[in-house]
Amino acid sequence: MPTRQTTMHDLNRRAFLTHTTRGGLALSALAAMPMSTLGRMLQPAAKEEPLPVGVLGWKTLQKDIYAIADQTMGGNTLLVASQGQALLVDTKYPYLGGAILNDAANLINADIPANDSIELTLINTHHHGDHTGGNAIIVPIASASYAHANALPRIKSQLERYVQGAKAGPSELARNEADEKLMPFAKSAAEASKAWTEKTAVPKIAISGSGTTLSIGGITLVINHYGSGHTDNDLVIHLPDHNIVHTGDLVFNGLHPYFDPSANASANGWIESLRQTRKLCNAETTVIPGHGPIAGPEVIDTQIKYFESLIASIQTEIEKGTPKEEIVEMSWEFMNGLGFEQIRSRIISGVYDELSA
Ligand SMILES: [Zn+2]
Repeated sequence: MPTRQTTMHDLNRRAFLTHTTRGGLALSALAAMPMSTLGRMLQPAAKEEPLPVGVLGWKTLQKDIYAIADQTMGGNTLLVASQGQALLVDTKYPYLGGAILNDAANLINADIPANDSIELTLINTHHHGDHTGGNAIIVPIASASYAHANALPRIKSQLERYVQGAKAGPSELARNEADEKLMPFAKSAAEASKAWTEKTAVPKIAISGSGTTLSIGGITLVINHYGSGHTDNDLVIHLPDHNIVHTGDLVFNGLHPYFDPSANASANGWIESLRQTRKLCNAETTVIPGHGPIAGPEVIDTQIKYFESLIASIQTEIEKGTPKEEIVEMSWEFMNGLGFEQIRSRIISGVYDELSA
């Protein structure tokens, strides 16, 4: 499998394992705990969270609006299912495409007749394989599919990556001891991938600027592009009436951001895109990042500060004459405690090159 996708996938798996280990509470810790604390822990939470929905376990954000923010499954996805129509933002890994489609179809109460289409609109936030992997299953049956114009040739060129990802899906799931409900979808993706062509995964409609407005089942959404940031094809999806923003990979919440010079990533452009995205928000906005937990607008502020601090720190070292090999090994306070440590040097290297160009 090509390097980039494998890297992100491995990172996700590692993040998952770390998380599960930390999440476990040793019995000795329980025994040592004061009864009052233990009592509080055993009481039911005051506000009951709705149960996860579908085979993938979607979290309900508002009526008819669902999201998944789970590091083991690739980029975070948003699903709107309202009045017999659905909107999907991003499609995770190839072997999850069928499960996503299954959940979308069930939520809009539609069957999926062979060679027919359901009222499903797809938007890709950008071309990276952990956000477009399920495209080959979803694009052909979608009634409309959108990505930025710069994303289309990049998605087209990733065919082999999608096929390999689909073929590896069943063994990936088995190795990760993932929910067995996903296995039939992974097996059928592996089989279907034999017939995928260059065009199968490519969305049909190109977006170039900001302000494309759609109405899906009575829910309004606006698609925006603010220039090169994480890639040269980032789209930000805004649901103004519901105060929800999907930032794509412009935001990595609690994680080092993945920096991709081959897709014209730019730290300065990234900050500008984040500032424009922040203008869509107020204090109550729900922000779905590309990776990491769903949060509020503070995660956009934190991501802006990360890049401002990174640029300033690297600039200082450049002015001191510190060699690049030493700078990429450095770490600063603003980087403390972030996940995806394995890509820290990568982003320092990329921003160093941008500042030195
Ligand atoms: Zn990405």
